[in-house]
Amino acid sequence: MTRPLETAEIVAIGSELLTAHRIDTNSLFLTGQLNELGISVRLKHVVGDHPSDLRAVLLAALSRADLVITTGGLGPTDDDLTREVVAGVIGRGMHEVPDILESISARFSKRGVPMPAINRRQAQVIDDGRWLANPNGTAPGQMIEMNGKVIVLLPGPPRELKPMFLASVEPVLDARSAGRRVRRRVIKTSGRSESQVEETAQPIYSLFLQQQPPIETTILASPGLVELQLSCSGSDVPALDRALEHATAQLASGLGDAVFSVDGRSLEEVVGEQLRARGWRVAAAESCTGGALLQRLTDVAGSSAWVEGGVVAYANAVKVHALGVDAAVVAAHGAVSEETARAMAAGVRHRLGVDVGVAITGVAGPGGGTDEKPVGTVFVAVASETMDVRRFLFPGDRSMVRQFSAAAALNMLRRHLG
Ligand code: AMP
Ligand code: MG
Repeated sequence: MTRPLETAEIVAIGSELLTAHRIDTNSLFLTGQLNELGISVRLKHVVGDHPSDLRAVLLAALSRADLVITTGGLGPTDDDLTREVVAGVIGRGMHEVPDILESISARFSKRGVPMPAINRRQAQVIDDGRWLANPNGTAPGQMIEMNGKVIVLLPGPPRELKPMFLASVEPVLDARSAGRRVRRRVIKTSGRSESQVEETAQPIYSLFLQQQPPIETTILASPGLVELQLSCSGSDVPALDRALEHATAQLASGLGDAVFSVDGRSLEEVVGEQLRARGWRVAAAESCTGGALLQRLTDVAGSSAWVEGGVVAYANAVKVHALGVDAAVVAAHGAVSEETARAMAAGVRHRLGVDVGVAITGVAGPGGGTDEKPVGTVFVAVASETMDVRRFLFPGDRSMVRQFSAAAALNMLRRHLG
């Protein structure tokens, strides 16, 4: 029997990944996938398009790891060297595969253009290797098994790499892994800070570490969202899932209605589901967020069933003329005030003829703050037959205040509909 694959190294190839403009995201995806299979990623490398550097990294990686996955450098141009260098490192030749050539030229003729001669290189496969179909691009992947080790060559563009990995690589690795699995759950909360969530959750999850199988918990915060990620590993998948189910239920009950999902759904997906269930439509009036709330609401596929639209009411004149906010209210209380937020929410609800209107008005900074209303002061109002209004003071720079504001508005909408 062949030895199970236990360790992996990932080699991200491309000089652009060594600039300030591009980041290697492929290895994040691959690391997640390999961990799920119980294969531990020991090292990741980022290498430019230089054959000697690539050769050195590949030789070292192959001396240590059971599995080496490269990404990038499978294109048709002269700087795409992965095929040649891998063949050289493992001492094999290459041959042209007519089927690949045919599928590449078919891709071009479908677009009504002849295949450029340089694309012919992409039909070269390392001897005794398998090639992996690429339905989303011209570069096929390759997989070579050698002395119990596996080498996989994947294309650079994430939209080509991910489907190829899932369709052609994952099943092979699954059959060769040691049967250890990592299972995960994520509990998403909104409306509480990282330390508030930690304070409530810590006494609960410290118990999970002592039980079998032990469950590890990490906490991850971004503006308006705190996630608890639970994971446990072992070979008895149903037992892992039962343990996670139990732990998730305990944490969710401890955290109460701060929790908005335990099944991976985003806040906007949860809100969309609530609106759909009620048969309600929503509209937004946004000042300091400039449309960020509507962007998130409409990120959800199918959102035309519950989103009507909205108004970016940045200037006071727009608040007054497009939303019907009383100019005297703005003059008396200011554009950033509870009264203006209420009037904006009621106004957008009335003007767009929807069931629920949401308004955001605040000081995103860096300028515009006062002693009474410092930078980060934001009012959010949600108006249906009833009205909720809240004042927030968000930390961080302009971008963070805007993200916090949109998340807070979504969360207030969730509670309003709950
Ligand atoms: P290549 O296969 O080297 O021709 O890569 C083509 C494109 O894929 C590059 O220009 C990047 O935009 C993208 N790409 C390559 N490697 C990575 C990576 N490790 N992570 C994310 N994107 C990548
Ligand atoms: Mg490249």
